[in-house]
Amino acid sequence: MQMANVSKRGSKTLHAEIAGAGFAGLTAAAALAQRGWSVRLHEKDEELRAFGAGIYLWHNGLRVLEAVGALEDVLNGSHTPPVYETWRHNKSVSRETFNGLPWRIMTRQHLHNALANRARAAGVEIRTKSEVVKADPSGKIELASGEVLEADLVVGADGVASKVRDSVGFEYDRWVSVDGLIRMLVPRKKKELGAGEWDNTIDMWHFWPRVQRILYSPCNDNELYLGFMAPAADPRGSRVPIDLEYWMELFPFLEPVLVEAAKKDTARYDRYQTNTLKEWTRGKVALIGDAAHAMCPALAQGAGCAMVNALSLAMELDEVADVEEALKSWEKRIRPITDRCQALSGEYAANRALSKGNQFTRQALEAARYDPTRRVFSW
Ligand SMILES: Cc1cc2nc3c(=O)[nH]c(=O)nc-3n(C[C@H](O)[C@H](O)[C@H](O)COP(=O)(O)OP(=O)(O)OC[C@H]3O[C@@H](n4cnc5c(N)ncnc54)[C@H](O)[C@@H]3O)c2cc1C
Repeated sequence: MQMANVSKRGSKTLHAEIAGAGFAGLTAAAALAQRGWSVRLHEKDEELRAFGAGIYLWHNGLRVLEAVGALEDVLNGSHTPPVYETWRHNKSVSRETFNGLPWRIMTRQHLHNALANRARAAGVEIRTKSEVVKADPSGKIELASGEVLEADLVVGADGVASKVRDSVGFEYDRWVSVDGLIRMLVPRKKKELGAGEWDNTIDMWHFWPRVQRILYSPCNDNELYLGFMAPAADPRGSRVPIDLEYWMELFPFLEPVLVEAAKKDTARYDRYQTNTLKEWTRGKVALIGDAAHAMCPALAQGAGCAMVNALSLAMELDEVADVEEALKSWEKRIRPITDRCQALSGEYAANRALSKGNQFTRQALEAARYDPTRRVFSW
């Protein structure tokens, strides 16, 4: 791959500076370095780590992992539930298998480690405690230390509060939902839970006597990802550590795992957010991931789309010689899928549509069905 790249661009090795070592930044770093770019990745935190608990990846994200060589590591120690079940008031309303579409649940750290390992193996220089405070479309970034670095490509993968985005002056609309989620990992406690299909994903909704939802998602043999959803206006439902009595009242059969969840005081209540930008690129700057398209998690596609867009960016730069032209054609090609996914995810979140069951329609799974390596919807 390196040889092909060098021959196409003459003798010059192209250089990228990337802000943010989340799923988007790590994927972009690995994919570019694997194509012969010299890549420096800046992470503002002291160490590389993932925030949050568990994560769902679908066919699109799994194809990206395969393309960067991280699929095997991720499949080892993650889980595909036999069924995605939806309950309303503790009664099953749907059991979905997505027509065989591949999907997987894992801990965020597991996914993060696999991507970081691929980035390192591809020769990416990873700088921690390195905050990017400013970027310029001419291809410059400025660090909190005052150092200024130049590149052929600047990637803003620095999340929902992106400094790359805001310093360049990208305009966007922002919408925050009325609901939010507390996320945590607890031990599976399968035996203690008693009889039940506890290997399934179970999305458990209550609207009476109040809105409360638990998304039950097994990540592997030992770890269970629990999402506690409640409106932000509900002080008991949005409290951390969770209010055991309050959650036990509606989900008494989950007692063994709720007792574990109540011990966690480091979790956080997060509102859902949608950011829609007018453009994702300017000059030599490209935005990817939550910096470009933070979306509600209803369709569980924020990271999936981020990874697809990161890989697609590297692929486009491999094919179109001029960087600025490549960024424009990349956005034109890839953005509509993300835009539609973001819009539907926001609509689902606003209407709490997933509670009806059977909401993973073909349209809702559009982004999930996309195979970025072949640029086709392959399911
Ligand atoms: C409740 C909830 C559930 C979700 N569930 C799913 C799911 O199941 N599946 C799915 O695909 N998506 C899911 N998402 C979306 C997903 O979490 C995000 O879309 C994804 O993590 C975005 O990745 P990112 O790399 O763009 O940003 P981040 O994960 O935010 O990473 C940004 C990185 O940049 C660093 N950084 C920030 N600023 C700077 C700076 N100035 N300089 C240097 N470094 C910086 C940060 O420390 C961080 O490491 C969910 C989101 C929420 C809120």
